[in-house]
Amino acid sequence: MLYGTIKPLKKKKASVFLCGLRRLCGNAKPGNLVDLATDCSNMETYGKILLIAMPAFLLLVLFEKWYGWYKKKETVHTMDMLSSLSSGVTNVTKDVLGIYLVLISYPWLVNHLALTHISSSLIVYIIAFLALDFAGYWVHRIQHVTNFFWNGHIIHHSSEEFNLACALRQSISSIVRIFVIFLLPAALLGVPRQVIEVVAPLHLFAQFWYHTQHINKMGFLEKIIVTPSHHRVHHAINPEYLDKNYGQIFIWWDKWFGSFQEELPDVPPVYGITRPARTWNPIKINFQHIWLLIKDAWRTASWKDKFTLWFKPTGYRPADVAAKYPVYKIEDVYHFEKYSTPASGAFKAWCWMQLLMVLLFVSYLFGNIALIKNIDSSYIFWYGGFIFLSVYALTDLMDGNVSAFICELVRCSMGIGFLVLQNDWFGAKAYTPFITYLLEGYFIISLLVTGWWTIQIRKRVMAVQ
Ligand SMILES: [Zn+2]
Ligand SMILES: [Zn+2]
Repeated sequence: MLYGTIKPLKKKKASVFLCGLRRLCGNAKPGNLVDLATDCSNMETYGKILLIAMPAFLLLVLFEKWYGWYKKKETVHTMDMLSSLSSGVTNVTKDVLGIYLVLISYPWLVNHLALTHISSSLIVYIIAFLALDFAGYWVHRIQHVTNFFWNGHIIHHSSEEFNLACALRQSISSIVRIFVIFLLPAALLGVPRQVIEVVAPLHLFAQFWYHTQHINKMGFLEKIIVTPSHHRVHHAINPEYLDKNYGQIFIWWDKWFGSFQEELPDVPPVYGITRPARTWNPIKINFQHIWLLIKDAWRTASWKDKFTLWFKPTGYRPADVAAKYPVYKIEDVYHFEKYSTPASGAFKAWCWMQLLMVLLFVSYLFGNIALIKNIDSSYIFWYGGFIFLSVYALTDLMDGNVSAFICELVRCSMGIGFLVLQNDWFGAKAYTPFITYLLEGYFIISLLVTGWWTIQIRKRVMAVQ
């Protein structure tokens, strides 16, 4: 049974849709439209956790790059890493803003369906961890094998490399959350929502470390937990490895439910997706697959396909549109060209600097949610939009598109607009009185330098033609 109603949205005078979604969680109480991650009381806490987690993940990503250089086994390439990091920025921004709708919530499940109550705190935490891992396995498997749900996971597999940064590629496109239903075992056992709230981020962060090629097989641990070797198989597109090892922490689910595949010594994993993304832009990648499905449903002459293609196995396309509008698919995984774009040392340095600026901007948001909301409740959404636009402009430039200048122009105008209207940067004057001058200078320089790079891109394109 799906629980929830859209009515609270209508009651509030939500001027924009995003604000409407956000305000739903203003009514946060069990039984209302509310989810663990969108509970407003948790939003600031989650922002604070990310303030610690983000630099920690960034340092580990950089350490892996250094280690690869030191061991002469490079697994981290700058443009791909920047793309992964910017994807991580979009995902955490979306999560902190709580831009999604929950049709069924864990608090509702546990309040209505709990059959028992567990008092021992250690046992309840262990059960919560196992329940989350069980739910994670099935959600992950459904995402892989169903056309529609694959769109919500494709970003995670979109890198053609395999490294710690890939772990940060997480979705922004799943707007409606329905998979809480898989936490039914936890709800029946009466695991309190507060326990799930604590364990869920730990369970998520514990999936970071195994995205690496620098750790080989790990002895007896291979039988119990998901190791780098198991997860290399999961990210590989070799026919032997495709759609295997869905486990998140424990590997036994794969062994029990028939989806386990060991990494074979004579089959080196080739990473990515069979219909390559061919872009560094995480926002485009998040919607590429669903856009193809929408186009296919529109174009196909088969009425049956129009309604059913969404729930067919991942990759399914109606025969008529597949013939008329073919999509490139990697057939021979050992002979295809990985996506790359021309990037000089200076260009990479510029992209790095821009990414660091985005990280500074987003850190300010995460550390000051209450302050920003106090000034004006709609400001965090404007700020979120600015972050998304920043990522889009940066990765569009990395892709070598001249349209990056237009994106940068809109972004810098937005930034300067905020500064002029507020005579401040979302309350940051309290920390740095000169912030408006600093940021005005930054936006002007950023626009000029991006303009210069787009002229170079234009010259390069003309020279090829
Ligand atoms: Zn996956
Ligand atoms: Zn992964």
